[in-house]
Amino acid sequence: MISNPIPWPNGARCAVAITWDMDADSGLNFWNPERADTMVACQTMFRYGPNISVPRLVELGRRFGIKQTLYVPGWCIERYPHAVDQMANNGDEVALHGYLHERANELSKEDELYWFERGIDAYKKHFGRSPAGWRTPSFAFSKYSLRFLIDAGFQYDSSLMGDDVPYVLDDNGDTLIELPTQWSLDDWPYYAYGREINMTTPITAPARALEVFRSEFDAAWEFGSVWISVWHPFLSGRLARIRAVIELIEYMQAKGGVWFATTSEIADHVQGLIARNEWTPTVEKLPAYTSPLPEFSERN
Ligand SMILES: [Zn+2]
Repeated sequence: MISNPIPWPNGARCAVAITWDMDADSGLNFWNPERADTMVACQTMFRYGPNISVPRLVELGRRFGIKQTLYVPGWCIERYPHAVDQMANNGDEVALHGYLHERANELSKEDELYWFERGIDAYKKHFGRSPAGWRTPSFAFSKYSLRFLIDAGFQYDSSLMGDDVPYVLDDNGDTLIELPTQWSLDDWPYYAYGREINMTTPITAPARALEVFRSEFDAAWEFGSVWISVWHPFLSGRLARIRAVIELIEYMQAKGGVWFATTSEIADHVQGLIARNEWTPTVEKLPAYTSPLPEFSERN
């Protein structure tokens, strides 16, 4: 089914990365700058992530002997260093997720670059090194984002959805590894409800979300793809939902032949395969469009 199947370490059938986007209340503040300070219940809903869920995630990783990746906005590193440090000190990967959960493709090029650099600065100040990985908040990857990521020296991105296996993004001959995911592995469509902030998804039972995650995993296992969750501590870290996560990991481990890795470890593996000519990735040139289609201006 996959035209360029990728060899996974030790003959594994597929690669699984449990990754979490620890947004906390960054997006709440960015999207509602005038009133976020008054939305106390909403703040607590989001802060449940760093305060209550993250210790639970550390426990989860230890229980199953797996390392996870935490994608964090720079502002959250400054605001919730205890949460970030708990994961980092446990040997989990911390990757970058914007600064204040800005939606890059709704900003000017200059504004995107401002927040992008501010995020990197926050990461460097805390960890004393640059981040290897990036996920664009809200999947809002812009037509400038790839260039910014390449120029800043990132190793990989995990925001796009263009393949089943890792692939390569190319901007005028400069490249970046892409570790693709998709909306069905994101917990937002199943759980994100908040009337105050127009999150109007009907809340789904964890068993239903689990059914989708598990069917995606079964297909990944059968066809040899990469399976990357995009879960949020404030959503999937809640009791009934983390129980579903536990059930899913138990299922994966019982099935066997799964390479559990951080996204950084997967990027290292992919980079090695390419360097040794052991596998040929698909290459996608970006941006595909630099302006709206000319067909629109040709009308009349
Ligand atoms: Zn996010």
